[in-house]
Amino acid sequence: MTNPCCINHNQKTIFSSNDYMWKICENCDLIYQLSKSDRTNKVKEVLFDNFEEPDENGRAEFLSNLDKLKKYSQLSNLTFFDFGCADGSYLKLAEKYFKKVQGMEPNKFLKEKAIKKNLDILGDKFLDDNKDYYDVIFTRNTFEYVNGFSTSLKKLMQRLNYNGYFIWRDKFYDHYPKNYSSRDFSDGFNSLPTKNAIRYHLSSNQIKILESRFYFDKSFLIIGQKEKVFKNIFKKKINLNKIFYNNYFVCNLIFHFTKIIHFIYIIIRNLKNSILEKTK
Ligand SMILES: [Zn+2]
Repeated sequence: MTNPCCINHNQKTIFSSNDYMWKICENCDLIYQLSKSDRTNKVKEVLFDNFEEPDENGRAEFLSNLDKLKKYSQLSNLTFFDFGCADGSYLKLAEKYFKKVQGMEPNKFLKEKAIKKNLDILGDKFLDDNKDYYDVIFTRNTFEYVNGFSTSLKKLMQRLNYNGYFIWRDKFYDHYPKNYSSRDFSDGFNSLPTKNAIRYHLSSNQIKILESRFYFDKSFLIIGQKEKVFKNIFKKKINLNKIFYNNYFVCNLIFHFTKIIHFIYIIIRNLKNSILEKTK
């Protein structure tokens, strides 16, 4: 069993079956699942066996994130850790920029792939056993699958040096059509972090947000820095998600509407880029 979210706050049950239970934390708006059966646990163990290596776009995006980090610090004297490093593709890229890189990957199949690339991959008990500190911690599309979101994030952020950087590339689930009762849906996730939950848990771990982008395709990028003295705990904002987290129909409407906006945004961006290319 995972630990619940914020202590001393109500964890409201959204859905419950023999297999699993979905809850929302009324303090931070985190939506999370508690698995109750061996079946769900087994399904999740092999969840990423079909993972494909990141394509050109994925690699280019990772490098552009490193470029953003260069605004704040030189990279060559920093240590880098990739939490949920999959097959190690990003670590392999990071190797060229940082003093030392390490990663952790719970999926056995992917972990073996990463080790074959001569990378230093730490054991599954990393969050509990490892006592090293890092200058940069990176994670990409990991936290929706992590068991015990708030505890895991806390343990991960404890491994970050003061003034160290956290690069978080993930998905947020405000207005995402959540079919809590569907096995297929529920087998695919452990947590559905919302904007409020993301900001709240960063602030409660002393991470100051230097840059944040929440995109229309439901992905986000945050670059944060760990501060020694941090007093501004994020207070959640009332947003539409707070009202509709349990309404599949309305979420679906909003989701498709933002998808269209994202599509238009991509067209405009491509147009702009091609015009810039021509004028070069
Ligand atoms: Zn909470």
